[in-house]
Amino acid sequence: MIRYGMVIDLKRCIGCQACMVACKAENSLPPEIKWNRVEDSSTGKYPNTKRNFLPMPCMHCEDPPCVDVCPTGASHKRTDGIVLVDSDKCDGCQECMDACPYEVRYFYEKKLSYFPAAFTPPEEIGYKKHRLGTMGKCTFCAHRVDKGVKKGLKPGVDWDASPACINSCPTGARVFGDLNAPNSEVSRLIKSRHGYQLQPEDDTNPSVYYLRA
Ligand code: SF4
Ligand code: SF4
Repeated sequence: MIRYGMVIDLKRCIGCQACMVACKAENSLPPEIKWNRVEDSSTGKYPNTKRNFLPMPCMHCEDPPCVDVCPTGASHKRTDGIVLVDSDKCDGCQECMDACPYEVRYFYEKKLSYFPAAFTPPEEIGYKKHRLGTMGKCTFCAHRVDKGVKKGLKPGVDWDASPACINSCPTGARVFGDLNAPNSEVSRLIKSRHGYQLQPEDDTNPSVYYLRA
């Protein structure tokens, strides 16, 4: 059984935010909503300081608390491990947002525009896709993965079957593929570079792994 996952190499991440912008464009996300935020912090004391970047998509947890608490079944996990929100079933109770230990769920509360005069065509499309009063989050670009697989393409290898953030990263810091396939690039990197998951104490078994900077 396939289990899709992502590896993010923090040694290669330069904090350019290309993944965040690509995600917003691909998914028609309005102002204030970033399904893939890049956290930016610094450590050390001047002049010996260091910038640290941490891209944060949904972790597509194997044991997702957001699914457990959803009273309507809107939040669900597919057999390939991708966690999605069915906006037709979402009643906007926000239980899932409170339950997610990674704070990667976003509530569509009001219509916002990047330009005061009017909504741009991409914003109009976005508000058709995302109903106000419902929840949204990173989907591992399931629409791209599914379309690519139907064409016989390989997610994580072929552009047309891969998430937008994977395709946009200029340094190749993000890798996507099947965590259950021992020879996939994601499995190889996790093994050879000791990939780790965020907040293991939460027992969610994320499908996103990080490689140390
Ligand atoms: Fe759910 Fe949060 Fe895990 Fe994503 S990271 S599957 S939203 S609990
Ligand atoms: Fe955004 Fe798709 Fe990347 Fe998730 S997989 S962060 S939805 S571009």
